[in-house]
Amino acid sequence: MKFNPEKLSIRDQRMKSFINPDEIWHIINNTKPDKRRVKEVIAKSLDKNRLTLEETAVLINADDPEVIEEIKAGARELKEKVYGNRIVLFAPLYIGNYCSNNCKYCGFRSSNTEAVRRTLSDDEIVKEVSALEDNGQKRLILVYGEHAKYSAGYIAHTVKLVYGVKKGRGEIRRVNINAAPLDIEGFRTVGEAGIGTYQIFQETYHPEAYKWYHLAGKKSDYDWRLTGLDRAQEAGVDDVGIGALFGLYDWRFEVLGLVRHTNHLEACYNVGPHTISFPRLKDAATINMNKDFEVKDNEFKRLVAILRLAVPYTGMILTARESHDVRREVIKFGVSQIDGGTKIELGSYSDIKNEEQNLNREQFMINDARSLAEVIDELLDDNFMPSFCTACYRLGRTGEHFMEFSVPGFIKRYCSPNAALTLAEYLVDYADEQLAEKGWRAIERGLTVLDADVAAKTRGRIERIKKGERDLYF
Ligand code: SAM
Ligand code: SF4
Repeated sequence: MKFNPEKLSIRDQRMKSFINPDEIWHIINNTKPDKRRVKEVIAKSLDKNRLTLEETAVLINADDPEVIEEIKAGARELKEKVYGNRIVLFAPLYIGNYCSNNCKYCGFRSSNTEAVRRTLSDDEIVKEVSALEDNGQKRLILVYGEHAKYSAGYIAHTVKLVYGVKKGRGEIRRVNINAAPLDIEGFRTVGEAGIGTYQIFQETYHPEAYKWYHLAGKKSDYDWRLTGLDRAQEAGVDDVGIGALFGLYDWRFEVLGLVRHTNHLEACYNVGPHTISFPRLKDAATINMNKDFEVKDNEFKRLVAILRLAVPYTGMILTARESHDVRREVIKFGVSQIDGGTKIELGSYSDIKNEEQNLNREQFMINDARSLAEVIDELLDDNFMPSFCTACYRLGRTGEHFMEFSVPGFIKRYCSPNAALTLAEYLVDYADEQLAEKGWRAIERGLTVLDADVAAKTRGRIERIKKGERDLYF
């Protein structure tokens, strides 16, 4: 029988690629960088509207340094006006690096015979999580290679294991996942384990480039990966994160790919991605990537600002792949989540010893190895409010970024007081005297801008935290 796309059910249609590379290139090549248009587009975003592909291309094509500064200023303004100064903190926990794919850029790829493969045992996971709790972490993202060992059932098992670890006053309140795309049944299984966000990065949205980087293994199927988050939605996992690995292909194309993916999710499920990630390609064991599409620091700052403006309601994640200096600068352009105290070598939070210690177990090199306390210290110096809040997800307030963005007063009523409460817990339980002093000053400053009744309630809860109660939130 001949294949007839029109005969596909709506659901099957959703499982097909929605990226048309010619259309994306056509938009990039035919949109003029007009100063007046740039201003209009920034104004549209500041008015709380998501941008179209064409409008995003107006920003992408702007190359006059003055106009680029306007774009960055727009992103900064959007962040400050809409989201305030909170930055949510998390840490990645690598569970296992067996992988049957052969992604050219990744240290875990199957052809890297020098990689020492391991999967943390249940006991080791408990040790790692205990060590993370001892540092004050409350939110983790679990990371897995793509391998038959890491089935949906196994992922669900590890998620439950992590939630079960309670060390002292520590606990993990939100477990996000970065793993291979699953089938609908698989997503249902991990959803039932109580995951937060399920992240899948498309790596590159360009089908030909994608083919070149992913020659073997399940990941060579571009459409299967692209539609992974549709299957998540079908399975009821509506909290999903998208991303592109910048440096594999032209950054301008990837930005439009991310916006297209966002439109697709909005159109099909009435909810855009919860987060957008924009990792930049970093050196990994024994790889020597060509640098044709290397994204320079100045381009990276631009693209983060453009993404912020293009999808104003979504969380934006910046990881320790980037150096301390780059993070300090880029965070201003609309980032809402960063990792702190990150270690990506398997077993390294609890320093699990074995004879292969320190051998080639990293996926790539990280560039910001500061402790969580150091990261918090600098955020406070820079007038950001560190937050470990997990309230919305636990109260079933899904789509919280969208609410933060669109519901008047939401941030003042929920996000800011919850940031203060979770920071207060951290200060009481984990901070040294100097950091605690700085943190309490920031909390005090934060309370002064809240409505009097919310501030009073928050103060009351802070007193209860000081007396030993935990996990209080609005
Ligand atoms: N194996 C799963 C997958 O590929 O989706 C999930 C885990 S993978 C370890 C997480 C992400 O790390 C990948 O999606 C990719 O974007 C990123 N990554 C891989 N190699 C990298 C490198 N050399 N530099 C920076 N990020 C990299
Ligand atoms: Fe495996 Fe993921 Fe690395 Fe690809 S990026 S080799 S799938 S761990």
